[in-house]
Amino acid sequence: MDYVPEFPQVPSMEDEGLIMKRTEAAPDLDADTYTKFFMRHCCYDAIPTSSKLLIFDTTLQVKKAFFALVANGVRAAPLWDNKQQCFVGMLTITDFINILHRYYKSPMVQIYELEEHKIETWREVYLQYSITSLISITPDSSLFDAIYSLLKNKIHRLPVIDPESGNVLHILTHKRILKFLHIFGSMIPKPRFLQKTIEEVEIGTFKRIATVQETATVYDALTIFVERRVSALPVVNEQGKVLALYSRFDVINLAAQKNYNNLNMTMREVIESRSCCIEGVLKCYPHETLETIIDRIAKAEVHRLVLVDEEDIVRGIVSLSDLLQALVLTPVGIDALFS
Ligand code: ADP
Ligand code: ADP
Ligand code: AMP
Repeated sequence: MDYVPEFPQVPSMEDEGLIMKRTEAAPDLDADTYTKFFMRHCCYDAIPTSSKLLIFDTTLQVKKAFFALVANGVRAAPLWDNKQQCFVGMLTITDFINILHRYYKSPMVQIYELEEHKIETWREVYLQYSITSLISITPDSSLFDAIYSLLKNKIHRLPVIDPESGNVLHILTHKRILKFLHIFGSMIPKPRFLQKTIEEVEIGTFKRIATVQETATVYDALTIFVERRVSALPVVNEQGKVLALYSRFDVINLAAQKNYNNLNMTMREVIESRSCCIEGVLKCYPHETLETIIDRIAKAEVHRLVLVDEEDIVRGIVSLSDLLQALVLTPVGIDALFS
């Protein structure tokens, strides 16, 4: 193999010890099919021929930046610092959630910090607790490295930057990477483990699932997002039955509908009032095969399925992070998601 990992933490495939570990841990000969597939393809291969990209100057007001994301139907933007003449980070919906959660007082009080702060002002406050520089990747790095970076850094947006021009070419996501596999993976032989059930392979999170009651407020949901750092919450009734899904992405609707000043609305009200989302909840069952699940998640273009039992009680989450960890990193003994 001629693969040279870009991240020093990633063990080399030529490492003898690793290959021995792989043989012991994965007796299935085709267990590393997807690892090899993503090592063979580079980030450039997964970039669409055209897509919309927004870049924000750090002196832009945060409120204007979030409105610009909404107006352009974009989920995140790289941040350009004019003084340093470089990209310094990303602005994502998680940042919007953190600002609302930190500064919200009541429906009667305008969120001054959202109205007045520039992106750079917010970053000065927030960066004490978070990632301090931009995490990016080059177009000729492998998709394996991109997956490793997304999972290891626990981020959902990875800008691909051309090292020569310094231009951002695209922002890679788990979704884009899975779509690439879904389209081009059909050209390689199907690994046998795809026929195993989710129960057998145990891919996903099955304990301490963060959910939100339909009677809880939006502010309560934001608190769970901030404290648990999960990307979505199944909305449940008192019996734990799933009624809807509220993802971080849905929070940007508060900016679209300009009702971020009232976070005392209940989840039920929010769910009933939303117009632009997927009808119902995309779910899966423990007895379904990995192949069925990958197919469903890729076709629906969502970041996760909610694992339920016959009564629709929430039993787990199968996220794209879990799938990529299990299909691509676990076969070579790398645990980026849980380390
Ligand atoms: P979301 O799921 O809302 O799109 P992320 O999980 O990607 O957001 O972001 C979590 C935090 O990490 C946010 O504060 C965001 O600004 C930051 N972040 C996301 N991507 C990057 C990146 N490539 N480099 C540096 N920081 C990032
Ligand atoms: P992102 O592209 O930012 O990762 P998500 O996939 O989390 O976005 O969400 C995109 C939209 O799809 C949101 O409106 C969200 O509520 C919806 N959605 C995501 N996962 C599910 C699911 N399992 N069931 C129903 N709707 C979902
Ligand atoms: P994600 O942020 O969806 O990419 O997933 C990162 C990890 O968090 C994965 O292991 C998911 O299974 C897990 N996860 C996502 N949503 C939830 C949730 N609501 N409760 C518990 N774990 C979750």
